[in-house]
Formats: sequence, structure tokens, C-alpha cells
Amino acid sequence: MTSHTLIAGNWKMNGLLSSLDEARAIAEGSSDSVVKIAVFPPFTLLHAMSEALGPDSHILLGGQDCHHEDNGAYTGDVSAAQLLDAGARMVLLGHSERRHGHKEACELVALKARAAVKAGLEPLICVGETLEQRKEGLTHAVLSKQLRDSLPDDLIGKAFHVSYEPVWAIGTGMIATDDQIIDAFALIRRVISERFGDEFKPHLLYGGSVKPDNAAEVLRLEGVGGALVGGASLKAADFLKIIHSAP
Ligand code: PEP
Repeated sequence: MTSHTLIAGNWKMNGLLSSLDEARAIAEGSSDSVVKIAVFPPFTLLHAMSEALGPDSHILLGGQDCHHEDNGAYTGDVSAAQLLDAGARMVLLGHSERRHGHKEACELVALKARAAVKAGLEPLICVGETLEQRKEGLTHAVLSKQLRDSLPDDLIGKAFHVSYEPVWAIGTGMIATDDQIIDAFALIRRVISERFGDEFKPHLLYGGSVKPDNAAEVLRLEGVGGALVGGASLKAADFLKIIHSAP
């Protein structure tokens, strides 16, 4: 479960059918890579991307969110089973743009994670503090609470991933320092092992302004199992440089 580095691209609300060429280029340019690669396109592209890459592609696809119910009267939402049906194997949950932009509480993220594993998806759950929380010395408290309340017991024994994404580093060009990442990862590892046991080691990713020119430094840090990449995953050339930076 943790043998390879995971490099994941979050396309956010970007991409049209014409962007499938970028996905094809990512697949072609990484065919010899041992790194685990995931792309989270918008819902509208999921099925088409899955068809474009083919059933045996080494690129894992994921949804950027899911509803916690299997189906029903939830206008505008998408269930975990629907993501799977469209070709997804993973789902991004608790991204700061959902936690802050859509006021998603940790408890809702946990319900979604439960629905995701029940449907057979691997959740990639994001946690991270805002700049104000960091300045107030609340980083550890915020991360601990997010991990405690967003990770349901249903994850025990299942494949899942956690990405540390300081909110102030997302899309700002302001990457966290090595020390900040090492400190946050030590806390995340401790909270997860207290909760799920020492033998259970999900991929821990860093996300926040990872670019081709800084990826190698982040990915060589002890315990960093990969990166969640936003802006720099949209162009195949940039994303491939990041993939090829992985140790
Ligand atoms: C993200 O969307 O999770 C992210 C880290 O974005 P960016 O790489 O653009 O900072």
C-alpha cells in the first residue's frame, strides 16, 4: 500500500474535453515510471478521461468530492458509486476549497470517507491550517482535530491517503518550509498511528504550490510519500517533471 510515491494532480474546476490531450500526454510520458500517479479531473471529464486512457491505464482517476449517500434527492451532488461507475478509483475529500468554500465540517468529510470506502474508492483526505491558525500557534491543534474527526473507523484496514495542505500554501506560490512539513508530518503520523495502530501507514502527501522546480526537494523529505499538485498538474509537461522528480 505504501511502496510507491503517489503523485496526484487536482485539476479543480479546470478542463474541457479538449484537455484530454493533456491526460493522454501525462500517461504517455509516465509509462515507464514506478510512481503511482492519480489525476482528479472535474466530474464532467471523468468518464471521457477514463475512456481516453483505456481500462489498463497506469493512471488512477479520482473524483474531487462525493456525497455521503448512495443516491437520492441531492441536486448537484455525485455519489461514490457514481464516481466508480464513471471510472474513478479514488476520491479527494476535505480539500480546503470544500472545507472553507463550502463550509464542510470534519464530520461530513468522515461520512463521505465512509461512503467512499464502502463503494470501493480510495479516499485522499486533506488536512491543513489557515495562516491565521498558524500565526496563533494552533497548527497542531487544528491538524489533530481534523484528523480525529475526518477519518472514520471504517478506514481501518482500507487503502487511504492523507495530504497535508496548509491552506496558505495552496495556489499562492508560497510552499511550506522543510521544517514546517517535517513537523506537520510527525504530528500526522503520530495521530494516525495512535488511532489506527503502528503497522498502518497510509501514504502521506504534501500539497501546496508544488511546482517542477521545488518538487524534488519536497519529495526527498523523510516520510513524504508524494505530492498533491493543483495548478502544476494542468499541463502535462509540468506534471511530468514533478512525476520524474520523485525519488
Ligand atoms: C491543491 O489543489 O490541492 C493544491 C495543492 O494546489 P496548488 O498546487 O495549485 O497549490
